Amino acid sequence: MAPDRRAPRDRAVRAAVEHGLLTEDRPVAALLDIDGVRASAAALRAAFAELTDAPVLHAFAVKASPLVPVLRLLYEEGLGAEVASPGELALARAAGVTADRIVLDSPAKTRAELRRALALNIAVNADNPQELARLDALVPVSSTTSPIGLRVNPQVGGGAIDALSTATATSKFGVALRDPGARDRVVRAFLERPWLTRLHTHTGSQGVPLPLMATAVREVHGLAEEINAAAGRRQVDTLDIGGGLPVNFASDEETPTYAEYARLLAAEVPGLFDGSYALVTEFGRSLLAKHGTVLARVEYTKTSGSRPIAVTHAGVQVATRTVYDPASWPLRIAAYDALGRPKAGPAVDQDVAGPACFAGDLLAVARPLPALEPGDIVAALDTGAYYFAHHYAYNSLTRPGVYGFTGGPGGPVRFATVRPPQRVEDIVAEAGGGHPEALLDG
Ligand SMILES: *Cc1c(COP(=O)(O)O)cnc(C)c1O
Repeated sequence: MAPDRRAPRDRAVRAAVEHGLLTEDRPVAALLDIDGVRASAAALRAAFAELTDAPVLHAFAVKASPLVPVLRLLYEEGLGAEVASPGELALARAAGVTADRIVLDSPAKTRAELRRALALNIAVNADNPQELARLDALVPVSSTTSPIGLRVNPQVGGGAIDALSTATATSKFGVALRDPGARDRVVRAFLERPWLTRLHTHTGSQGVPLPLMATAVREVHGLAEEINAAAGRRQVDTLDIGGGLPVNFASDEETPTYAEYARLLAAEVPGLFDGSYALVTEFGRSLLAKHGTVLARVEYTKTSGSRPIAVTHAGVQVATRTVYDPASWPLRIAAYDALGRPKAGPAVDQDVAGPACFAGDLLAVARPLPALEPGDIVAALDTGAYYFAHHYAYNSLTRPGVYGFTGGPGGPVRFATVRPPQRVEDIVAEAGGGHPEALLDG
């Protein structure tokens, strides 16, 4: 049975209004269901633990929610961190994630980043032969214990969203395995580098069907077996299978599940779970998305032509992908009244607009909802990953506060501040407000 997400969400919205998290000055707030996040982390661990005794590191893809208390929560739940920039690495370290649970993947690591990663003994996945050549100069003269891998692109094809498909024939990530001669070069690269012990692949984020993800993992497992046969030893000891479990944005149902994916992997890649390889996963969206909600006040309602429009305070700044690519990233919207109670009434098709100054700043078009009125609250659901944590600074709109909540039926809802709301003074300061005359004379 699907967990009841609606009742906890409704309680949290009501409590957020009572706690004054949503005001004239702060017309947008983001909520994170902490019990939900914990449950997803536990489900991920259980799905793999059920199928293998091999060590599995679940490294949360920090880019999905780059918020330090979130990374800490996941660490406490037994997860690690997959980082792809100096900023993400710093966030993971600030959260207290230990080196043995950090994996650095990025297609553009500088020499300085590589040196630092080796000094910290965090795992590194090289993206390409030029990066391997840089590591050739660094690894042998260092005393690092960093496990080092190579990202490969099995070129199995793309999913529904081109921009998020990373295993296409021409993807910018990893070594394209099916290019002429590439596979042999990869095998040789391992034989020449005894310190190269991992293979990494990540097929895409959202929109990639599970069977395609499993095919990519099968390709990489086969390559590992080939390398180990050529080496005459178990040189490749760890497979990093990436993230990318898609999220259902159409209902409160959490599908597909980690258990379904893990069982599919067991069926398609039998050797994966037999204990010969340690595993790393890098899930992001699927751990957080369903547990986040953006709340925004309705400022005005109007009609234009015959089109009813509710002008709210949530738009492109918190839902950038949805606004620019609504066909790929539809969001569910729930309506509440000014006191945070679910709004009732006959559904009317209406647009839910954001505050930004361009016509396309719409969260939803012709969406059937109870007729919205000024002071009401709209909730953009399933926004726990890649939404409110990914503020887009258009129109100098402030970043909303992010609040974790807990509390069951019968008990009070408790909030903890994950990220305070940005202040207008902060925007001025970040925009050069401290040196307004910088451009006046040479
Ligand atoms: C983005 C990314 C992930 C996470 O993808 P999700 O769809 O959020 O699970 C994992 N690994 C790599 C290398 C990525 O780029």
